Parts: sequence; C-alpha cells; structure tokens
Amino acid sequence: MFSALHLRTPAHCESWVGHGTITRMAKRGFELRVPEGDSIKRSVCGDCGFIDYRNPRIICGVVPIFEDKVLLCTRAIEPRVGFWTVPAGFMEIGETPAEGAAREAIEEANADIEVGDLIGVYSIRHIGQVHMYYRGQMRNSNFHAGPESLEVRLFDWEDIPWGNLAFPTIEWALRDFERNRGRTQALPGERSTQAPD
Ligand SMILES: [Zn+2]
Repeated sequence: MFSALHLRTPAHCESWVGHGTITRMAKRGFELRVPEGDSIKRSVCGDCGFIDYRNPRIICGVVPIFEDKVLLCTRAIEPRVGFWTVPAGFMEIGETPAEGAAREAIEEANADIEVGDLIGVYSIRHIGQVHMYYRGQMRNSNFHAGPESLEVRLFDWEDIPWGNLAFPTIEWALRDFERNRGRTQALPGERSTQAPD
C-alpha cells in the first residue's frame, strides 16, 4: 500500500523516523498497531497517522579473484573484529548492488574490481537484511587495507580460513562462488536463516 502519508513526513514526526526506538516513539505518541488495510503491526503516530514502515536493508558484497586467489580482509570494526570477510557493506541510495559491491572493495581493500555475475541472495530474517554477493575480477594486483580493515590478503582456495570467517553469509558467498566455478554465467544461490517458530 502506498499513500500520501509516505510522501511527506509531518514535521513533528520527522526527527523520530529511522532512529527512534519503538519504546521512545511510544512515549512520543506513537502506538504499535495494525494499520487499516495492513496485516502487520507498525509504529503509528496517534496524532497524525504517520506510519513508520521498517523494511529490510540491503548488503552488497563481492568475492574478488586475482589469478585464482581470493581477496579477504580482516574486519577492523565491530561486530566481529579480526575475523575474515570479503568486501561487503550497506548499499547506498543512488547505486545498484553491483556498484555498491565495487565501492565496498575500494573502501575496504583499495582494490579495483570488475564486478560480474550475482552468485547469491541471502536473507537474514531476524535483523531484516538481504545480502547480495557477486563474482569479481581484480583488474590488477594492487590492494591495501582501508580504514575498515586490519589486513587484506590473497588466499589460495585451500587456505581460506573457514573457521575464522566473520559471518555465515561470507561462507555462503564463497561456497556459491565455488559452485559456479567454470560456468560462463553464474546460477545464483538463494539461502536464508531459519524462520522463527
Ligand atoms: Zn505525527
């Protein structure tokens, strides 16, 4: 459902949208209820009817390859500091997921990557995230750690530190990359965390 309410946020609600917690918003006159014509509980302003829709966010990432080696970074920021990841992060407004993945590779590893086929779409239900990972060809062998990485290294496939990866999605992306090896066109995998009971 799309209504005029989404187009303009009333001034008195504006500062709460996106960063107010449900409890704080309740104190400000927001109530948790199912809006008319909807089926899910939302935070609704009791004053003007503004509905604070909360929907999943998109994370985009890339599996960068140079001469059969894969580029991994250790995280310099929480969560999971010191664990290995491929370049990935929140997609920004104004870019495509593939463009976001290329940007993340520059930010985290100063690596120039030609982003290729989509290899996986992963839903992390409980935190409302959709992750999209791509194959990536490094245009040259230059790279160094950006501010969000402690270390960046090229690994032979058999040396990937499977036990020290930052998140399950990183392993999923690497496995879906592996599964697509030798294919001209990648067949993306689709995975998700378990549905709550
Ligand atoms: Zn309001």
